[in-house]
Amino acid sequence: MFGAMTYSKYLILIRFAVAIFFAAVTFASFAGIAAAKDPAVTGVRLGVNNGKTRVVLDLTKAVPYSAFLLENPYRLVIDLPELDWGVNGDTGAAARGVVEGMRYGLFRAGNSRVVVDLKGPVRIVAHSALGKPERLMFDLLPLPKSKYKKGQAVALNNWKPPTGKAIPMPQAKPKGDRRRVVVIDAGHGGVDPGAVRGKTYEKRITMAVALEVKRQLDASKRYRVVLTRNRDIFLELRDRVKLAQDSEGDIFISLHADTHPKRATRGASIYTLSERASDKEAARLAKKENASDIVGGLDLSPYSKEVTGFLLDLTRRRTMEESSVFANMMIAQFRKKKINMQPYKTHRFAGFAVLKAPDVPSVLVELGYLSNKTDKKMLLSKNFRKKVGRAILTALDDFFKHIDDLAAR
Ligand SMILES: [Zn+2]
Repeated sequence: MFGAMTYSKYLILIRFAVAIFFAAVTFASFAGIAAAKDPAVTGVRLGVNNGKTRVVLDLTKAVPYSAFLLENPYRLVIDLPELDWGVNGDTGAAARGVVEGMRYGLFRAGNSRVVVDLKGPVRIVAHSALGKPERLMFDLLPLPKSKYKKGQAVALNNWKPPTGKAIPMPQAKPKGDRRRVVVIDAGHGGVDPGAVRGKTYEKRITMAVALEVKRQLDASKRYRVVLTRNRDIFLELRDRVKLAQDSEGDIFISLHADTHPKRATRGASIYTLSERASDKEAARLAKKENASDIVGGLDLSPYSKEVTGFLLDLTRRRTMEESSVFANMMIAQFRKKKINMQPYKTHRFAGFAVLKAPDVPSVLVELGYLSNKTDKKMLLSKNFRKKVGRAILTALDDFFKHIDDLAAR
């Protein structure tokens, strides 16, 4: 069948073909044009012409869109069907014209989103979907504040993004399941990348750690684990809290990895809720973490009149005490597992929105700093995730033993 070709030559030929095939596949996925079922974005570009700033999205297929403007701070939000983000970017690198920065990613199931941060008020003066090659285009004209009109919204053929449920429905605890419910919250996600350093995203580190913690807790068979998210999707802070409450969480652990202006700063620290921050750094961090909803392109003005503080009733007081007890037990376990901790002020507190469930003890863990070389390398390592998983599992055992001992008294 192969004529004069020897069997070994035939084998070499096959290997060569396989290598070419894999090289092509690798290239295709790098270029973001792998055979994905969703249309893909292959580029996001900015241009300035005649005082107008143009935002262009390059696509593999035509898609509908809707877009609207928000203030406090000024933003342009572009909603699209669920897309494959081949370009995989987000950062503040793109600053041109009226654009200060932008990010993109999944917002809700079936709804991808681009959030463009603006330097000031604008009007959308033109928008269109162009073919060959497929692209979307938005022209923004800066305006004086006095001429800015609130609530401008545009769309292609009145298209609206699907209004699916934002959060996964909490699964009711099966009858007879007496295990404690541990809610693990992978910070950020989707259109909100969290802290970014080069190609390292906080949202991916938190997801990887959350999955490893779940794996270890599941293996122990002592806990029922609920993840607030299990994929790269955006989730409002209040929905994370609600999910913890609705799934009858016995404890809530939010995972993060921040950046710090000082590159030398490193180490983990654990935060609990308080009205007043323990220190300036804790206050800075809470402000940053609480901005997640703004990053995701939400209009928070309906909530601005809401009382931002909280009532210190008996339930809340007990929850806060328990949160502190757990935070200290976690610190002890982190130290035992030789996870590098901040040298002082290891347990700190501030007004984190995600820790506000009045009836679920909650802690926020900053695993380390992406801005520190050693920490960044550690945060990306499997060994680190394993250590964190073991530390959390032991801290949970200690904590619930403490709670049971108190109840037995
Ligand atoms: Zn964070």
